[in-house]
Amino acid sequence: MAYIRQLICDRCKKAVPVSEIRYIPKGRDSTATFCLDCISAKKEANSLNKKTNSPGMKTPLSMDNSLKEKYICMRCNYAFEFNTKSRSPISCPYCSKSDRLEKQRKKSAQDLIKDIN
Ligand SMILES: [Zn+2]
Ligand SMILES: [Zn+2]
Repeated sequence: MAYIRQLICDRCKKAVPVSEIRYIPKGRDSTATFCLDCISAKKEANSLNKKTNSPGMKTPLSMDNSLKEKYICMRCNYAFEFNTKSRSPISCPYCSKSDRLEKQRKKSAQDLIKDIN
């Protein structure tokens, strides 16, 4: 008598033949039981996550922003971003002078209130 051992997939709760089951390590000393469908779905989700997260995984947006400072040229009122990691000296891209540049801070809610008053 043919007997196919079946296991329940942890993800979709379907009973699938044991040959289509894969064990995925899940934390310490425990494994999740996934069917092949769910394995491929999981892989796709993982690769999607990697795409959307990279390279932001290790460098969150705030880190990225710290490289760029906002400056405003008081000569021509031209606001621009300058990469502080850049080796070239800072100058206004508009008038190419650097004597009237002011660093612009990101306005916090408090600053906005001050501006209104
Ligand atoms: Zn499944
Ligand atoms: Zn300028």
